[in-house]
Amino acid sequence: MKKVEHSMEEETICGFSRRDFLKFCSTMAVGMGLPLGTGAKIAEAVTTQKRPPVLWLSAQECTGCTETLLRTNHPTLDKLILELISLEYHETLLVGAGKQAEQWREKSMKEYKGKYILVVDGSIPVKDNGIYCKIAGKTALSLLGEMAQDAAAVIAIGSCASWGGIPSADPNPTGASPAHEVLKSKGIKTPVVNIPGCPPNPYNFLSTVLYFLTFKKLPELDDQARPKFAYGRIIHENCERRPHFDAGRFAIQFGDDGHRKGYCLYKLGCKGPETFNNCPIQLFNDVGSGAWPVGTGHPCFGCSEKGVGFTLPLHSPARPKYITPPSLFTEVFPHKEGVSSGTKALAAGVSGAAIGAAAAALVSGLGKKDGDSGNKEE
Ligand code: SF4
Repeated sequence: MKKVEHSMEEETICGFSRRDFLKFCSTMAVGMGLPLGTGAKIAEAVTTQKRPPVLWLSAQECTGCTETLLRTNHPTLDKLILELISLEYHETLLVGAGKQAEQWREKSMKEYKGKYILVVDGSIPVKDNGIYCKIAGKTALSLLGEMAQDAAAVIAIGSCASWGGIPSADPNPTGASPAHEVLKSKGIKTPVVNIPGCPPNPYNFLSTVLYFLTFKKLPELDDQARPKFAYGRIIHENCERRPHFDAGRFAIQFGDDGHRKGYCLYKLGCKGPETFNNCPIQLFNDVGSGAWPVGTGHPCFGCSEKGVGFTLPLHSPARPKYITPPSLFTEVFPHKEGVSSGTKALAAGVSGAAIGAAAAALVSGLGKKDGDSGNKEE
C-alpha cells in the first residue's frame, strides 16, 4: 500500500494544484457540516497517511452505484480510486478474473485485517440460504459475513444495500435484505453506515470515506445509520421549487403551464416532503444547477427513503410527516430532542413565520380534488 503520491515541486495533489486541492477539501468539509478549517485537516490526512484499503462486494444490484462514481469529476474516479483509496477488490472494475481475483480478495482481507473498509453494493438475498446470488461459488450471504467480520467499517452504498431497494419490492421473491440486517442476524458487530439512493450521490460516499480517513471513525449517523450531514433534512426543505409550494402554485400535468413555469411538483406525486437527502444541494454529474430529478421537471420519487421509493406508486401524493420551513429560514427553535418538527412548524405558524403559509398551502392542496390545482394564478 503506497502513500498518496504528490509532488510539492509540481504543486499537484491527486491531479489538483495544491491550492485547488485545499479548496476541494474545504468544500468537502463544509458539505459535511464541519468548520471550513477542517479542510486543511482532511488534506493533511489524505496526503500524509496510507490510503485506506477498500474491498467492494456487489450483490443484487444494477451497477448504478459504481456508475455514479464513474460520473464524478472532482476528482474523477481514477483519482478517487488510485490516489485517495486503495481499491483492492471490486468485481466490476477488477483487471483479474476467476481464481486470480478471489485469491487477491483473500490475500487483501488477510493483509489488512481489521483495517479495510468493506463497501457493500446491492441487497443480500437470504431466502433458500441465499442461493439467488453467488460469486465464485459462494453466496453473497456467506461472503458478506466473511468479509464484514474483519472490516474496520462497512459502507452500504445505495438503497439496495441500505434497506433492500428494488430487489426487496413486494413480493420480494429472493428475500432481498439490507446489509445491516444480515450482519445483525449473524451477530457481526462491525459498524455500518448506510448511504441510500438510487443511485446515491457519489459525494456522500466520498465525504464518508474522507471523514473516516481523517477522524478514524464514522460521521454522526441518524437512527437509520445514515450520515446526518447528508440525510439530516428532507428534500422539501432545500428544494428550489419550495417558494411555489408555499405560495400554492402547482404543476398539475406534465407539460402544463405550471410545469413549464417551474411550479411545485407536489401534485404530480413528488415525495420530497417525506424523503431525507441532500440532492437539491449536492446535485448530480457535475453539470451545474438543476441537475437533479426535481430540477429537470420530474417529481422526486423517494428512491433513498425506505417505505417510499419502490414502495409507493410513482405519482401518488406524498404523505408529509415533517412540515418544516425552508432551510434558509431562521430556526424558530434550535433542534432539540423532544421538540418534533410538527411542533416547531405549529409554533412557527402561530408566530407568523412563513411556515404558516406552507402548512396552509399543504392543507389546501391535500383537500383539493384531482384536476384542481389550487394555483393562485389560475
Ligand atoms: S413538493 Fe417536491 S417539488 Fe414541491 S417544493 Fe417539495 S420537494 Fe420541491
